[in-house]
Amino acid sequence: MKKQKNRKYIFVVGGVMSGVGKGITSSAIGTIMKARGFSVTALKIDPYINIDAGTMSPTEHGEVFVLGDGDECDQDMGNYERFLDIDLSRINYMTTGRVYQEIIRRERNLQYEGRNVEVVPDVPREVIRRIKKAADKADADVVVIEIGGTIGEYQNIIFLEAGRMMKVENPEDVMFVMVSYLPIPSKVGEMKTKPTQYAARTLNGVGIQADVIIARSEVPLDSKRKDKIATFCNIHRDHVISAPDVDSIYEVPINFENDKLGKIISNQLNLNHLESKTDLKDWRNLLNKKRRAVDKKNIAIVGKYFESGDFVLSDVYISIIEAIKFSGFKLGKDVKIHYVSSEKFESKDGKKRLSELSKYDGVVIPGGFGARGIEGKINVVEYLRLNKIPYLGLCYGMQVAVIEYARNVLGLKKATSAEIDPKAEDLVIDIMPEQKEKMDKKEYGNTMRLGSYPAKLEKGTLARKAYKTEDISERHRHRYEVNPEYVERLVKAGLVFSGKSPDGRLMEIAELPKEDHPFFLGTQFHPEFQARPFSPHPLFTEFIKSM
Ligand code: GLN
Repeated sequence: MKKQKNRKYIFVVGGVMSGVGKGITSSAIGTIMKARGFSVTALKIDPYINIDAGTMSPTEHGEVFVLGDGDECDQDMGNYERFLDIDLSRINYMTTGRVYQEIIRRERNLQYEGRNVEVVPDVPREVIRRIKKAADKADADVVVIEIGGTIGEYQNIIFLEAGRMMKVENPEDVMFVMVSYLPIPSKVGEMKTKPTQYAARTLNGVGIQADVIIARSEVPLDSKRKDKIATFCNIHRDHVISAPDVDSIYEVPINFENDKLGKIISNQLNLNHLESKTDLKDWRNLLNKKRRAVDKKNIAIVGKYFESGDFVLSDVYISIIEAIKFSGFKLGKDVKIHYVSSEKFESKDGKKRLSELSKYDGVVIPGGFGARGIEGKINVVEYLRLNKIPYLGLCYGMQVAVIEYARNVLGLKKATSAEIDPKAEDLVIDIMPEQKEKMDKKEYGNTMRLGSYPAKLEKGTLARKAYKTEDISERHRHRYEVNPEYVERLVKAGLVFSGKSPDGRLMEIAELPKEDHPFFLGTQFHPEFQARPFSPHPLFTEFIKSM
């Protein structure tokens, strides 16, 4: 149901520094507009040359989020899907590489009809074309576009230019939100607005005036700073929104509404004739559930951890963390997540530490690549299996469970994955034939088994009980799979393949019978990508229930 004639575009840009919540701000703005009755879509622009996030290391990029159509993209796309409860596609994600690739393709096809192809205006035009295409695809009333990086960086200027061009053409349909940061230097003890002032001016320098400033800081903004920002950033004081640190990102839309952001945006974009209120009832209920949860559960994510200088990044597992939280909210459990490096369980000494795992109510082994930490993971799975501690394995976590079972139950001591040792005797996890061809040709980018695939669930299994249906569809990102040659033997030894591809060839879920273990289940896919605040994922819910 369309309620207004013109489509509206909200650009979200960052001032001062990155990592202060542009993605969450964009998601929250979308949430607010959705809660006012509009249909909303969102785009993420990453200014780097990479075509997608798939080839980047986790230290560079954090989690690689996978869309239903198989696009490997930025983790903010996961935030949009979760906050807005929508499915996005490839066109919602843009990088400099994608934009140039398309322009060059068209130039080679003579589609510019002999004209000079210029950085300006041809590049911003292609950016605008993509934004409008995503908007059309979603038939959205409101489109939120997050421009990655920080104002003043050379890389994102062309995207700001696209926004500026759109605004010049339709001033009433386009607005800019700047997410800024206000530091409180410990020696000074006072919140400082100067970096925000500079950022606003740098934005002015490329012809853009911020319509709203989101003032991120540790604490709420006081009246004095609001006035200061208003004066020096050339903006109405009501358009300066206080955005203090919060316990849960799901409080952010409610916080913004406390400063009437929905009304301000509606005013700015001339949507006020559609008098509507922001209805965030569901979000308030969700947060109340969270607050009321008292029954504590401790879950460890045993993974490969990444250091950035002196800091450890847990961003890599963001979708898993959110998926656990949603199921926790639903069950009224106060879930605490612990980050445990699998490497500490390797070797003889490491094995002695396995008993530390007894303090957790459940363990997740997430997706991963390469050999580092893998033997530690195998030891962990053995311990969880023998000590009947609930276990959920995701992708690599499922493969590891199959390797462990083959080694310790089937007695194939050398069982492993071709990813770890392609020449090993018993490759219970092997490369998919079509993947091998691609690897041989060094075609690494966007070539894994990616995106949504259907699967069928076996009656009477844990998986079937959780999903309550036979047919499922889940998102994938892997090159290796359970080797069909070993399936019969594994099944005879007691492992249950409760989910398979419709043709029965690919093993999608492995589990142990309920009589043998309270919850031991691994998935070849990534259920975490489809968990949403108001529809938690059944496998995560069943996992927590079993604790
Ligand atoms: N490395 C494994 C594979 O490629 C698992 C991938 C993953 O966990 N996402 O099959």
